Amino acid sequence: AKSAGGNRSELADPEADARAITRHGLTTALPTALERGEFFIEYQPLVHLGDGSVRGAEALVRWLHPQHGVLGPDRFIPLAEHTGLIVPLGRWVLEESIRQARAWRERHAGQAAGPLRINVNLSPCQLTHPGLVQDTVDILERAGVTPDALCLEVTESALIGADDDLLKPLRRLAEMGVDIALDDFGTGYSNLANLRRLPVSILKLDRSFTQGMQQFPADPVDLKIVEGIVSLAHSLDLAVTVEGVETGAQAEQLRILGCDTAQGWYYARPGPPERLHDLALVDTTG
Ligand code: C2E
Ligand code: CA
Ligand code: CA
Ligand code: CA
Repeated sequence: AKSAGGNRSELADPEADARAITRHGLTTALPTALERGEFFIEYQPLVHLGDGSVRGAEALVRWLHPQHGVLGPDRFIPLAEHTGLIVPLGRWVLEESIRQARAWRERHAGQAAGPLRINVNLSPCQLTHPGLVQDTVDILERAGVTPDALCLEVTESALIGADDDLLKPLRRLAEMGVDIALDDFGTGYSNLANLRRLPVSILKLDRSFTQGMQQFPADPVDLKIVEGIVSLAHSLDLAVTVEGVETGAQAEQLRILGCDTAQGWYYARPGPPERLHDLALVDTTG
């Protein structure tokens, strides 16, 4: 903490100081971390609620820090966004995940219930970066996979009030056959009518909705809200994915409500790519 300005409470709080140092330390270590290959990706399956089959996986980045051990994205993605490192880091995540998508597809050629796909998170800074479309095209070509192997997840808040310039690269990618998912849906107060304007094909319902389904039967108001979102989404030809499914009861409620795909600890925690190769997952109807 700075000594100028006389913020006593901050100076008197050694924990706040330690946090500030760690933050600073992490920020300066980020660029070298990328060069040294300290980042790695875990994958979490996306399961079709109707038949329980695995249809894809979300790529979730982690940092194996030499001193602090494994750090989750919430610890360093905001720092990477702040410093601009998110652009090369995001490109690396994309390249690495697409490589996995290729390996995964080859292994399951003709055996999977549908074309397997990898979901990759895109931060708002990547959206405004002029290289996004070309980088994505290059990465797909280098890996030799078709664009339908990729789904890009963009948060609802990143697209609120988005003008056409911001939507243009997403539209280009969608036209190529890349799926765009609206992540954390339901948290951003977006105008539902606005959805028609966005080049998205999937709504990813925020975990807070799934949490409301914990008891059986679930809270009737929660049920009504999710039911409304699902019917709106389907009428707009959008698929609905739910995240944070931790119990079989939740999975069952969400299936009855018409949600299409689910993700959560009930099926599998995020794990190494090798685990994706095992498609035999828990029965969702149990
Ligand atoms: P998100 O995109 O909403 O990802 C879902 C988060 O929920 C992940 O946290 C996942 O591990 C966690 N999760 C999955 N199933 C369950 C469950 O059943 N219960 C609970 N309580 N949590 C569950 P994680 O891996 O810590 O990622 C946090 C956020 O970091 C992500 O939220 C995403 O916004 C961001 N992130 C992760 N990887 C990347 C990346 O490569 N690029 C960017 N820009 N952001 C990323
Ligand atoms: Ca996501
Ligand atoms: Ca999410
Ligand atoms: Ca989230």
